[in-house]
Amino acid sequence: MKNKGSLIFTMIMTLLVIGVIAALIISNQNKKESSVDTESLGTANTNNQQGLKLLDQIDIKDQPMIGKDEAKVTIIEFGDFKCPACKVFELDIKPDLKKKYIASGKAKLYFINTPFHGEGSMLGSLAAETLIKQEPDKYSAFQQALFEMQPDTEEEWLTIDAVKKAAKTAAVSNIDKLVKDVEALKEKAAVKKDINLVEKHNVTMTPTIIVNGKEVKNPMDPAEVDKVIDEAVKQ
Ligand code: CA
Repeated sequence: MKNKGSLIFTMIMTLLVIGVIAALIISNQNKKESSVDTESLGTANTNNQQGLKLLDQIDIKDQPMIGKDEAKVTIIEFGDFKCPACKVFELDIKPDLKKKYIASGKAKLYFINTPFHGEGSMLGSLAAETLIKQEPDKYSAFQQALFEMQPDTEEEWLTIDAVKKAAKTAAVSNIDKLVKDVEALKEKAAVKKDINLVEKHNVTMTPTIIVNGKEVKNPMDPAEVDKVIDEAVKQ
């Protein structure tokens, strides 16, 4: 009886081990199919102690912008698709800014990728830069769709599947091309350019909001954001 029992135990353990190995192989295969190797893009290296730098010299060339070119006030957002506060800024604060300042032509708003949250942030930045090159008129809707997909949990959600979904929501016409170019890291130079800006201006938090060269100290307070923009409008 004892031998039979231990034989059954050994068989169960063997099956369990086989099961675990099979699961690992399958999950690795899935990884291979759906992940983009963003390691070569590096990470942003900033120093929390030194504060923001050279805010009147931020190079906004080629950055996505909403608003009119001739707007007097330039708002720059350093943001990250995986940052919870950036989601709040995008979905709760930005709509009012659009109504009050952007639609009226007083201000224009630029977005610079600030990939602080690892691989998912990098992938989001890369997808953003790729779409800006391919279908710039869909970019703003894509950005909003990605932020809307951000969950309240810590899990990694910003995958190539999330990019496809956001592209679909934004009515991107050639999603296959977008995915292909993201996987080929085609626009990695543009992501590196943003990372260089993050380092140059020593951005350590997201969102960081700059209005005509001036930092909004608490960008999560809509009244303060308005106050800084109102002052810039008057100048
Ligand atoms: Ca950029």
